[in-house]
Amino acid sequence: MRTSAPIAVLLASTLLPFAATHSAAAQTASSAAADTSAPVQLIPGLDKRLIDSSANPCDDFATYVCGNFDKLYPIPPDKPGYGTGAIVQDYTQQVLHDLLEKAAVASASRTPNEQKIGDYYATCMDADAIYAAGLKPLQPEFDRIAALTDKKQLTDLLAHYQLIGVSAFFSYGEQQDFKDARKQIAAVDQGGLGLPERDYYLRTDPASVKTRDEYVQHVAAMLRLLGEPEAQASGDAQKIMQLETALAKVSLDITSQRDPNKVYHIMTTAQLAGLTPAIDWAGFFARTGTPPVSDLNVANPDFFKGLQSLLDSTDLQTIRTYLRWQLIHSTPGWTLPQALDDEQFRFFGHQLRGQPQQRARWKRCVAATDGALGEALGQVYVAKQFPPSSKAATLQMVHDIENAMDREIDTLTWMSPETRVKAKAKLHRVADKIGYPDRWRDYSKLTIVRGDAIGNASRAVEFENHRQLAKIGQPVDRGEWGMTPPTVNAYYDPSMNDINFPAGILQAPLYDPHAPDAAVYGHIGAIVGHELTHGFDDEGRQFDGSGNLSDWWTPDDAKNFEAMTDCEVKEYDGFTAVDDLKVNGKLTLGENTADNGGLRLAYEAFLADAKRKNIDVTAKQADGYTPIQEFFVAYGQNWCGSLRPQQVRLQVQTDPHSPRQFRVDGVVQNMPEFGHAFGCKSGQPMMPVNACHVW
Ligand SMILES: [Zn+2]
Repeated sequence: MRTSAPIAVLLASTLLPFAATHSAAAQTASSAAADTSAPVQLIPGLDKRLIDSSANPCDDFATYVCGNFDKLYPIPPDKPGYGTGAIVQDYTQQVLHDLLEKAAVASASRTPNEQKIGDYYATCMDADAIYAAGLKPLQPEFDRIAALTDKKQLTDLLAHYQLIGVSAFFSYGEQQDFKDARKQIAAVDQGGLGLPERDYYLRTDPASVKTRDEYVQHVAAMLRLLGEPEAQASGDAQKIMQLETALAKVSLDITSQRDPNKVYHIMTTAQLAGLTPAIDWAGFFARTGTPPVSDLNVANPDFFKGLQSLLDSTDLQTIRTYLRWQLIHSTPGWTLPQALDDEQFRFFGHQLRGQPQQRARWKRCVAATDGALGEALGQVYVAKQFPPSSKAATLQMVHDIENAMDREIDTLTWMSPETRVKAKAKLHRVADKIGYPDRWRDYSKLTIVRGDAIGNASRAVEFENHRQLAKIGQPVDRGEWGMTPPTVNAYYDPSMNDINFPAGILQAPLYDPHAPDAAVYGHIGAIVGHELTHGFDDEGRQFDGSGNLSDWWTPDDAKNFEAMTDCEVKEYDGFTAVDDLKVNGKLTLGENTADNGGLRLAYEAFLADAKRKNIDVTAKQADGYTPIQEFFVAYGQNWCGSLRPQQVRLQVQTDPHSPRQFRVDGVVQNMPEFGHAFGCKSGQPMMPVNACHVW
């Protein structure tokens, strides 16, 4: 039962700076894990301890600014990687842990929200009770599957599955209409896979073949733990693999999914019924509680055509087996008996991500509570941890960066005056959201019962899915947030045309009020610039200021833009991530454009701020750096850390962000101002003759 929004087609371009995407299963961990975590301290906005002065900043700036990080902060055994952002996450997790331990103490004085977060957390922590219950709480779900004796009954079951977070065969949810952002519509998309994305089923290199073998063994192991005899479990796992491979073959790859036009096909419900008549769509919408719909987005029509042949050709016995698998796969590990929880971790945590050890249970329970009741927990968190001064300072920074972009647009030689006017019109309509929502989500209709682990998890997902689906046909709530307040991350949403900075990311070193001003611009300034630039990257630029997918570019300017971004595609294609695995310049283009534009905007804003304050940006400071150097060092230290090799592979194959080293080196080498500040010579790696410059 996933806690995320029910559909994957949504185009929110997040910064996702510090962790690669986690599958629900990968978030799980065995309760046997020891708690290895010592208290974590935040680090300052410019941390000289991390600098490796034996490295030459002109050869490899990432190693210069972060070379000592791994020695000071080796990857903890319960993590697939570690870095600057992970320190902030660990720190935030401790704060949430304290809050939840207090809320977990049953007392009459708890507010309704405190009761919910406290009991959700306490139930998760009670491993003994969860183990003692075994698979019994899931029995009603298994009974539903066993009762499936006719494919006509499938509609009802799939609708129920979508509500509780099991995306068997496909995904269903709500989105803003790409071409009319005032409308909220229903959307169906590809789905139904167990591996991270479609190419995992199709690649033929040895590492991918090995992962598939391990996956089939994992599926078999889970089926055995559900009670199937050994031989049957092995055969069933093969059949599930065949079925998921067939789904993968009609799915779009992740690079194509970044193209809004490839995932936008408005159809009538009758047209959808023509593609997949095996599903009674009218019944499906009714059963999910969807408000009346006449048309919807069928993100990938070929998928639904392929789904029809698959449902026709697959026997009922195999469908039941696949549904049992999808159910157990989507059920959070912390609600399961220990053997299943351990097995989920063995494949998704250990084999796929290289993590030696499961996270301590309290960490998993903090994350689970944030996922289920994020704004209830966030409200308590913000009151304790997010001073109004941080909000005010961030807002000032955001305005500085927006002003820098306004000026920057005037200097672009490749853009015509006509398109410039429209770019500025879009920029001026970007909404800034900082810290937490103005209006908190109402959880009063969600029941959390102490001791009912599966029920709580399932009801929380169903509550969220009902909340999403209820938006269909309603006006858009522009105050809504897609991340919870303690989240250490940020995002741009092209349909909303807004930039969002949760309270979690507004902490040291990312926002450190005690650091030199230059360092603050290098850290949070670059992150603000990154999100703002997403509105103008290869994906965001296709949306206008109202959030509509509409072409506001002259043909020549569009061609120039593509030529400029092509430079970045080639640059990042040239970077080697691990062994023989290269960065995918096309998949990461939007993020790379945002990184490059973000740093430039932050730099311009930093210079304007220094001018305002009469600061000489070339004068050496007490820390040995000039303010310009401080700016770049702080920027580089956003991305300190490293990942285990398995995690690097996973990231390169699934994540639109470049590996951290290239988020530093790939960007500074496009800024001659960097080379000048560090006395680099033209032709050195960080000062190439062919720098790329989009924004
Ligand atoms: Zn981003």
